[in-house]
Amino acid sequence: MKNNMPKGLQLQAATATIKTAALNHNLQRVKEFAPNCKVLAVVKANAYGHGLLPVANHLDEVDAFGVARIEEALTLRAGGVIKPILLLEGFYSLADLSIAVTNNIHTVVHTVEQLEALEQAQLDLPAQVWLKIDTGMNRLGVRPEQTEAVVKRLEACPNVAKPLRFISHFCCADELDNPFSAQQITCFDQVSSQYQGERSLAASAGIVAWPDSHYQWVRPGIMLYGVSPVETRSAASLGLKPVMTLSASLIAINDVKKGETVGYGARWQAERDTRIGVIAIGYGDGYPRMAPNGTPVLVNGRRVVTAGRVSMDMLSVDLGPDAKDKVGDKAVLWGDGLPAEEVAEHIGTIAYELVTKLTSRVVMQYV
Ligand SMILES: *Cc1c(COP(=O)(O)O)cnc(C)c1O
Repeated sequence: MKNNMPKGLQLQAATATIKTAALNHNLQRVKEFAPNCKVLAVVKANAYGHGLLPVANHLDEVDAFGVARIEEALTLRAGGVIKPILLLEGFYSLADLSIAVTNNIHTVVHTVEQLEALEQAQLDLPAQVWLKIDTGMNRLGVRPEQTEAVVKRLEACPNVAKPLRFISHFCCADELDNPFSAQQITCFDQVSSQYQGERSLAASAGIVAWPDSHYQWVRPGIMLYGVSPVETRSAASLGLKPVMTLSASLIAINDVKKGETVGYGARWQAERDTRIGVIAIGYGDGYPRMAPNGTPVLVNGRRVVTAGRVSMDMLSVDLGPDAKDKVGDKAVLWGDGLPAEEVAEHIGTIAYELVTKLTSRVVMQYV
């Protein structure tokens, strides 16, 4: 059989390269921003798409982990992680509560329903409880004026270990000139400072921008992965290094003539004769189909832009008329040299969503 493939052809499907050194570098940045604080590393949603166990296993110098689902906590335990784990939204059932206490999984309590469940439960050990106070986000937590009564009941409950810890969450910490964050800090102080327990308010944006919010525990998520938590500051300017670089090979290069179109729906038209590169990544890998024409991509270290609709398994870029790129060359969709924040901006989303939504088809490579 005739084989037209060039010798040594080596194409790479969508691959997320995870730099564990960058992860630890970013953790050190957390500690520089928030010296003397304990660090609860947030690894929910598969460590923001970076791989739950590999990330947790490389973060040696943290004090605890935060997850959103009990299954995530149990995956960490099954993988040999022994540090405390906090369920950031608390337990969803009495069965989960029992599982939590026997696995040293701490729980947030944010509703009266969870409080009642704790009062009714039969537990082998008291639960480690972080009481969530709603300081203005109006998502989870007991209202400031309810706090005293809820604390009294938790303190009277034999199923609850003492002292309680206190937690709240910012809604606008990424906006440096928004006075809402200072109001939330004041509110948190007013309702929790009379108690002994440790406190936690800051996620990444609070760590970077609101030093008064650091208390005893900080809860970094996105900044550990090297993405800026603040709208107006680049990750590089905060000393953060991207952990994930998403790349794939050019699998075809086509010459198109001025006036010709590219891709489904013929949504991109060449304004000049040019060369189009086809890259082996699409929405089936988690690269958003909503990415418009003009979204940046790095090819051989040079910025080019998407041309036409993103397909399930591929997308196209305009390499320019004089391009010397070859089939097999590497394209970077985000990461080293092209911050995910910048790509997200073009797509109308945030980098959190880009990295978290990669699908299981993407090859994860840890270096
Ligand atoms: C997800 C989450 C965090 C981490 O937020 P980042 O912005 O990624 O740092 C911290 N605390 C809670 C309660 C969360 O849900």
